Amino acid sequence: APAAFTEADFYQRHFNPQEYMKEYYTLSDGQGQPNTFLMQNLRSLFKMFSLDGVRGDTLIDVGCGPTIYQLLSACERFQEIVALDYTEQNRRELERWLKGEAGAFDWRPVVQYVCELEGDREKWAEKEEKLRRKVKQVLKCDVTKANPTDPVSLPPADCIVSTLCLEGACKDLATFRSALRNISALVKPGGHLVMITVLRETYYAFNQQVFSCLRLEKNEVEEAVEGAGFEVKFTDTQLCPAGDARTDCEAVLSLVARKRASTS
Ligand code: SAH
Repeated sequence: APAAFTEADFYQRHFNPQEYMKEYYTLSDGQGQPNTFLMQNLRSLFKMFSLDGVRGDTLIDVGCGPTIYQLLSACERFQEIVALDYTEQNRRELERWLKGEAGAFDWRPVVQYVCELEGDREKWAEKEEKLRRKVKQVLKCDVTKANPTDPVSLPPADCIVSTLCLEGACKDLATFRSALRNISALVKPGGHLVMITVLRETYYAFNQQVFSCLRLEKNEVEEAVEGAGFEVKFTDTQLCPAGDARTDCEAVLSLVARKRASTS
């Protein structure tokens, strides 16, 4: 793992969105090996966005990065989506796909895979269109700030989704806990948090850059989620394939929680 924790500014300076997606978001690698990490996460997102009550008008994606896979099942349940990320090049890369610009990443195989999970592989173009239509804004955010979108104030949403962000953004457990409280303010009481987090990972790498990861245990994540005013409704843990030189990730935790009615 890097000697000093790589925080947001390191992402701004060194995170290459195209290389990140090439490394982690193709369905099969150069040798034709399936990307089980991605496929597990897509199945898990499909399952979580099929749970009772996980629906509504508005969804906020926290730490969206340059990717859209985390919104593919979500866009069937919510009408308007706002995507947030710290890094300018990631927001720009996402916009590039949303606008269908030349050079945008090809998500089609991933979209087709999700459509197949949802029952009809042939609906991929429709889903792409739907997602492009529903993402209304892509804004800067910093999860370590009390109002992550400062100076913008977003109305609280019906749901927030966050995949593989907080463990990379938070250098210690105290920061992780406070980041969860910060993003909790973005969701209405009774609304949901849908999260994918890696467990016991200390680094991940691509394109000869190494990024830090806060080493988390499942109970630490659950306690931080509860401490941010949520009730955990669903968890699922999937093991990471061993022997991956790019990361020391041991497992992936998928979690759905419901925000309690505010009493204090
Ligand atoms: N959600 C995407 C991207 C994860 S990569 C996926 O599932 O693949 C981690 C992301 O966290 C990067 O896009 C990075 O810019 C963002 N990030 C890092 N520090 C952050 C911070 N303090 N606030 C908000 N986002 C941050």
